Amino acid sequence: MTRSPKPSGTMSLHAEVARLKATGVDIISFAVGELDVNSPDSAKRAAIKAIDENFTRYTVSDGIAELRQEIARSLSAETGQNFAMEQIIVSNGSKQASFNLLAAVLNRGDEVIIPSPYFPSHLRQVELLGATPVLLETALSDDFQIKPDLLKSLVTDKTKVLLLNSPHNPTGAVYTLETLSGVAEIVKEKDILLLSDEVYLGLVFPPAEEHSMLKLFPELKSNFLIAGGFSKSFAMTGWRVGFAAGPLEIIEAAGIIQSNTTTNVCSISQKAALAALQEEPDFVKKLLPELISKRDTALKILNSINGLECLVPSGAFYLFPLITKFLGKTYDGNKVETSQDIASYLLRKHGLAVVPGESFGAPGFIRLNFSICQTDLQKGLKRLKDGLEQLQ
Ligand code: GLU
Repeated sequence: MTRSPKPSGTMSLHAEVARLKATGVDIISFAVGELDVNSPDSAKRAAIKAIDENFTRYTVSDGIAELRQEIARSLSAETGQNFAMEQIIVSNGSKQASFNLLAAVLNRGDEVIIPSPYFPSHLRQVELLGATPVLLETALSDDFQIKPDLLKSLVTDKTKVLLLNSPHNPTGAVYTLETLSGVAEIVKEKDILLLSDEVYLGLVFPPAEEHSMLKLFPELKSNFLIAGGFSKSFAMTGWRVGFAAGPLEIIEAAGIIQSNTTTNVCSISQKAALAALQEEPDFVKKLLPELISKRDTALKILNSINGLECLVPSGAFYLFPLITKFLGKTYDGNKVETSQDIASYLLRKHGLAVVPGESFGAPGFIRLNFSICQTDLQKGLKRLKDGLEQLQ
């Protein structure tokens, strides 16, 4: 018997776009979540050096000591807590980090609370481990902030983990101080684990502020697990470098899981990530003005589409408009009933790839990655506007 795993919606669409592009179809993709900038030069240089110096063999499964130390130093500075190297494992992207952490703590039947809309793989990872995802609904009308009372009502004696992600994929929300304080109270009172997926660290647009929960609530340290990575903040998606951090016992268990499944992250990528962190720690900060300008260009066009509603994202690089007003309309005699139908229509008829909200547990929405070049951004948004306005 298999567990019938479901595919990751974001990655399957990415594959479909690649397939269509390879056949020569003109597609503008707002689909997969990655920045439209090159990886740091320091990372590229270090990788070339690593190859030239034949740094091409297994490393320790948990990752090279220099990188674990550097991540520990950076986390200590961010959180005001002392992280030791032994509390860090270098993993294959933050996705593997969250999976290993969840695998280390979950037993069958345990419940994991996940704010919804959610990142698809968070839900799937919990399911793959035989645990139960419990969705904590958030709404556009609340700027997708968590309501602490609702969170509290979902905690049962089976709840093991609350899985947070801020800046948030797919909504672009960044949790406010008020939200985080409410959440921290409940985590403390109910003594559950908090897994913080921080892969979008630093991608926060003023006046929104980025708060380190551990810095604000140091008493959470024994409950706090981090899945972080270099994919988004250092534009290093393809290198696959992430990390898991947390209490020693849990990290040791996650390390054993990794050593029995994938062993170390690519040795060359580890050297690249180390150089990026040491030499260009502010890489992400420099990207913010351009991202804000792209966000604002995109919002201007979205707001000119009658019937569409969208949160002004405070972080990450996604727009998550509500498109329910267009459901029930038709094109060429076909009715679009769902955001999945709208996404298929946009792809087939207008050469535009967007991720349907269903992938994130949020029917009625679509997700657009706005970190693409200005020309394609404007062209793609025009296709979106035309596409939606041509529905009858
Ligand atoms: N996190 C990115 C996204 O949401 C990459 C896809 C994935 O890793 O599933 O598009």
